[in-house]
Amino acid sequence: MSVEECIFCKIADGRIQSDFVHQDDICVAFNDLSPQAPTHILIIPRVHVDSLARTQAGHKETLGHLLSTAAEISRDRGFADDGYRVVINTNADGGQTVFHLHVHLLAGRKFVFPPG
Ligand code: AMP
Ligand code: ZN
Repeated sequence: MSVEECIFCKIADGRIQSDFVHQDDICVAFNDLSPQAPTHILIIPRVHVDSLARTQAGHKETLGHLLSTAAEISRDRGFADDGYRVVINTNADGGQTVFHLHVHLLAGRKFVFPPG
């Protein structure tokens, strides 16, 4: 998958219009097209990385930023205390379908563990 064709790159750089719920120099966040919970937000780095499995030492700041952004959004939206789930599906066995690294932020219902 080239960066030119990557749907999440297109969303991040504005080639596909999306209403961001958060944006900064490192990441953007937007609502999932097919929500699995009352709140289902995707947080993606502006830089293209296929998956968590492809991250390297140079991605540490970006990875930390994605998680701290999830925590920030949860506080801003008032569901931090009730709780939420953060998921990073990784490669085929992890159920990843879009190969641009992304963090799912899910909230508004109870989640079971282990997930399916
Ligand atoms: P994953 O299965 O972890 O790779 O998650 C990919 C997620 O991206 C799924 O939850 C999809 O519903 C979501 N998705 C795919 N295309 C779009 C899009 N254009 N806008 C918003 N969410 C999308
Ligand atoms: Zn991409």
